Amino acid sequence: MASEFEIIRRYFTRPAPSAVLGIGDDCALLAPRHGMLLAVTTDMLLAGRHFLAGDDPGKLGHKALAVNLSDLAAMGADPRWATLAVALPEADEKWIAAFADGFFRLAARFDTELIGGDTTKGPLAICVTAIGEVPPNLALRRDAALAGDDVWLSGATGEAALAIAYLEGRVRLEADAREACLERLHAPEPRVELGGRLRGLARSAIDVSDGLLADLGHILEASGVGAELAWEKVPRAPAIAACADKALAQECVLAGGDDYELVFTAPPSSRTEIEATGKELDIVLTRIGVIVPGRPAAVLRDAAGKTVPATRRGFDHFA
Ligand code: ADP
Ligand code: MG
Repeated sequence: MASEFEIIRRYFTRPAPSAVLGIGDDCALLAPRHGMLLAVTTDMLLAGRHFLAGDDPGKLGHKALAVNLSDLAAMGADPRWATLAVALPEADEKWIAAFADGFFRLAARFDTELIGGDTTKGPLAICVTAIGEVPPNLALRRDAALAGDDVWLSGATGEAALAIAYLEGRVRLEADAREACLERLHAPEPRVELGGRLRGLARSAIDVSDGLLADLGHILEASGVGAELAWEKVPRAPAIAACADKALAQECVLAGGDDYELVFTAPPSSRTEIEATGKELDIVLTRIGVIVPGRPAAVLRDAAGKTVPATRRGFDHFA
């Protein structure tokens, strides 16, 4: 069986040319580019809570990094480095190699270098910290939405939650829908390029990890504003549109988690440029509502202007 240090050397040590010092010492040494702020984020994935121990290790490696890159994207930051702490029940080299492959494939796509971490024996858990750069004053903070802003959503929400409902036996899905939803759940695509392009166009942003209404709610709370959303404008992914259980589909779209789309607010003067950006990146960007003065809550209306009651607002680990 491989030792801790063999595992680190064989599977996790890759060149990190943009670090002053990478893996191998007590600390990595990093120099941000001149005048840039560092954006730092951590997300932990626990077996039995965020994934199942039998899940595909390659997709897990992808997802562990993807959820962190998604946070950088939601801040408008460009990814640069990451650290990786893993607790492994055993030194299963096939599993570790597949995990590392999924991790490094995504890392390479977004110029992210692994510069350190920790490896220990224990109940399967993965904790990634991602470090990015953003110019001062251009970070897409949660507290910067203003009344009059448009509320935008990238892609469509709900498929990851629909996958969970499927895995729990609460819904049946056709083969195409099932595949799309499971891929969304296990291998989410972080909106890294979009996040970077929204600097200077959007005012505030957040990634949808806990549900559309819950995450938009964090922007509203932090900014002290409300939102009016048009339910018929909220995009439906094909699997959601095809779902026979309409109440479940609605709950997935509004309160499902794990989508890793971006919700952002931007002044109407940014519309043309945002639309052009979406076309260029081939990402559907939809205006789903507007920011309004008042109580920090989102009101959802149907085409006739009647409020749509939302069953559940989002995910809370301690609820
Ligand atoms: P320390 O005893 O100082 O914590 P370790 O022996 O845990 O150092 O780790 C040795 C080196 O390997 C350090 O540079 C650490 O950042 C790196 N490292 C350990 N585990 C990982 C991992 N899973 N991925 C990337 N780097 C790792
Ligand atoms: Mg250590």
